[in-house]
Parts: sequence; C-alpha cells; structure tokens
Amino acid sequence: LAVPSDSPTIFDKIINKEIPADIVFEDDKVLAFRDINPQAPVHILLIPKVRDGLTGLSKAEEKNCDVLGRLLYTAKLVAKQEGLLENGFRLVINDGPDGCQSVYHLHLHLLGGRQMNWPPG
Ligand code: 5GP
Repeated sequence: LAVPSDSPTIFDKIINKEIPADIVFEDDKVLAFRDINPQAPVHILLIPKVRDGLTGLSKAEEKNCDVLGRLLYTAKLVAKQEGLLENGFRLVINDGPDGCQSVYHLHLHLLGGRQMNWPPG
C-alpha cells in the first residue's frame, strides 16, 4: 500500500504532458484521462489540474469547494461523452490506506459499461 504523501505524483507528469495519457477531457481546472489499468469497459480518472493540498478528499477544505463541484459536474459531462447516461455509471474516491488509495493527488474514478457490484469489496 502507498504511504500518504504530499510529494508530486505521476499525475503531475500527466498534467504537464511529460508522460502520455489518453486524455478524454481537459479545461482550465480539470483533466480526465483513461486509467492505465481499467476495471471496467470505461474507466476514467478525473483530477484537479492544481492539487492545492488535495492529496485526497480527506484533506478538503472550504477553499476547495469550487473545484470539488467542478470535478463532479465534469464527471457527468464525461459520462455523457462516453455514452453512459442511459445505463448509468459509478463514481469512486479512494482515500488513504483503508480506501486503497495509491496516488496521492485527489481523483475521481468514473466507471461504466458493465453492471457494478454492491457493496464493493
Ligand atoms: P487509486 O488507487 O489511488 O484510487 O487510483 C489510482 C489509479 O491511477 C489506479 O487505478 C491506477 O491504475 C491509475 N494509474 C496509476 N498510474 C497511472 C498512469 O501512469 N497513467 C494512468 N492513465 N493511470 C495510472
């Protein structure tokens, strides 16, 4: 398991286009790209382009509310772009060791294209 850390992550390299990623959406605040190890036919990560202390949701403060709302709304836009609005989709945020978080730059997982299970394991 990854240890929580405030160091730069692989996502900074993706934001800065230093390593390739299959980017499906980008604006001034949010970047969305396909997960390298997809757990569903559609598996996209949405991240704030400026981390601003958000290593994970557990570090959220009131100043982050705008970008948090923007991430959720962008997830809906990307779900639409991926053709997921009719059958549905799942959003996941893993936080900390118990949440199996491995990259300490806040991200939403957008999963779709198959029936999900509940409760998650
Ligand atoms: P977490 O476990 O922190 O919630 O999710 C991190 C996700 O980032 C994992 O699903 C993992 O597959 C994905 N990931 C890690 N490194 C890379 C990378 O270099 N490129 C892409 N596209 N995804 C990555």
